Amino acid sequence: MFDKTLAELASGLKSGEFSSVELTQAYLARIKAEDAKYNSFITVTEETALQQAREADKIIATGNAGAFTGLPIAHKDIFCTKGTRTSCASKMLDNFISPYNATVVDKFNQAGAISLGKTNMDEFAMGSSNESSFYGACRNPWDTDRVPGGSSGGSAAAVSAQLTPAATGTDTGGSIRQPAALCGITGLKPTYGRVSRFGMIAFASSLDQGGPMTKTAEDAAMMLNVMAGFDKNDSTSVERDVPDYTADLNKPLDGLRIGLPKEFIMDDMDSDIAAQTQAAIKEFEKLGATVKEVSLPNTALSIPAYYIIAPAEASSNLSRFDGVRYGHRCEEPVNLEDMYKRSRGEGFGPEVKRRIMVGTYALSEGFYDAYYNKAQQIRRLIRDDFTKALSEVDVIMGPTTPHPAFRIGEKSSDPVSMYMEDIFTISLNLAGLPGMSIPCGTVNGLPTGLQIIGDYFAEQKLLNVAHQFQMATDWHKQSPQGI
Ligand code: GLN
Repeated sequence: MFDKTLAELASGLKSGEFSSVELTQAYLARIKAEDAKYNSFITVTEETALQQAREADKIIATGNAGAFTGLPIAHKDIFCTKGTRTSCASKMLDNFISPYNATVVDKFNQAGAISLGKTNMDEFAMGSSNESSFYGACRNPWDTDRVPGGSSGGSAAAVSAQLTPAATGTDTGGSIRQPAALCGITGLKPTYGRVSRFGMIAFASSLDQGGPMTKTAEDAAMMLNVMAGFDKNDSTSVERDVPDYTADLNKPLDGLRIGLPKEFIMDDMDSDIAAQTQAAIKEFEKLGATVKEVSLPNTALSIPAYYIIAPAEASSNLSRFDGVRYGHRCEEPVNLEDMYKRSRGEGFGPEVKRRIMVGTYALSEGFYDAYYNKAQQIRRLIRDDFTKALSEVDVIMGPTTPHPAFRIGEKSSDPVSMYMEDIFTISLNLAGLPGMSIPCGTVNGLPTGLQIIGDYFAEQKLLNVAHQFQMATDWHKQSPQGI
């Protein structure tokens, strides 16, 4: 049962093969038995999950079930959940019980979903390895000595280890797609503004976007149907109709024009990953697609631009954690300044502090034009590169990451080498474009991802392209040894 997709579980619930309570109990028991190996959950919400499952079974019995009624999922611990600890994997919020739900959480609740709990992540979503969590590193189910990727590492590991059929994630520079690639699952970062950010603890507000992490593209479509839409509580959410994301999944790919950016094949990447991208492209050609080279000349500038813009926004967003309004407060402060300093000094981990310092510096008087303004100009160039490429092709494809999962500890003392792991994903966030990662092979037994990039609001197209690939191949069906 644990290898079933959301779509398969939904039909099992409908036909009465099992109840939502049985399904939820099974997953809760599996988390209890297995998660010590992975540390993919920070909080398991057993009681509320079972309560939600009982409600769902009642609705199913009346015959009024919706597509999501009774299906268990997990939420990245960046989404506020009322009455439950929402920690963002930080000591700062270790004691924070949210008084309200994120819009995404509300939407899943209203759709009848069951929330099994909150998944591990890098502290405040800063990282590519899930090693910066206050609750300890999360481990990759394909090799527990390796990282699951980050920052949504807990969600990716939990789906890959079959501790939940699906989970939510957030992506500021790659945090859905990169861990999806490293754990052999499907992840979708929607267009900026497609999914409400209300109640999703802010890292870099102009880049952050929530999205689904699933076994298949079909499941991602089911989740996006719930998640997407305008929210009056989020001034950057877009007022635009939400299509049925499952509607186009079966469209044939005849005539699909794929662009391959020459900058996405680099010297400093795993050669097997480059070969797998080529093999995936061949598969698409068999499905009727045509391929041409395109250019994204400013790709190399995406990391430096991101590491000004994201820390600048983070330094501002994180100023609210001051020991007064939220979270950790130091013991016996001697005065106000001492309280601010020690509360923040004790509450934040090293990577978060590094970002706050870089961001504060970049925004300070005299440096703003040289750094922040310059980075915004580069951002425009990157967007223009994509606009040009996407005027010639329907989708752009390439590897999601330059390497498969690395060892825990391998890159933690060298932040720049860690930052480079997002070289193929970060530019999309700067441009605001949607992107997906789907499994497309393995290197030495470790999964790798193919990234599919589309135009603004082309999620339906991406899901269609990914689904057709998954109908023709079985990389997405592979699971870690013993699972
Ligand atoms: N790894 C990138 C960073 O550390 C992206 C993180 C994310 O997408 N949340 O900023």
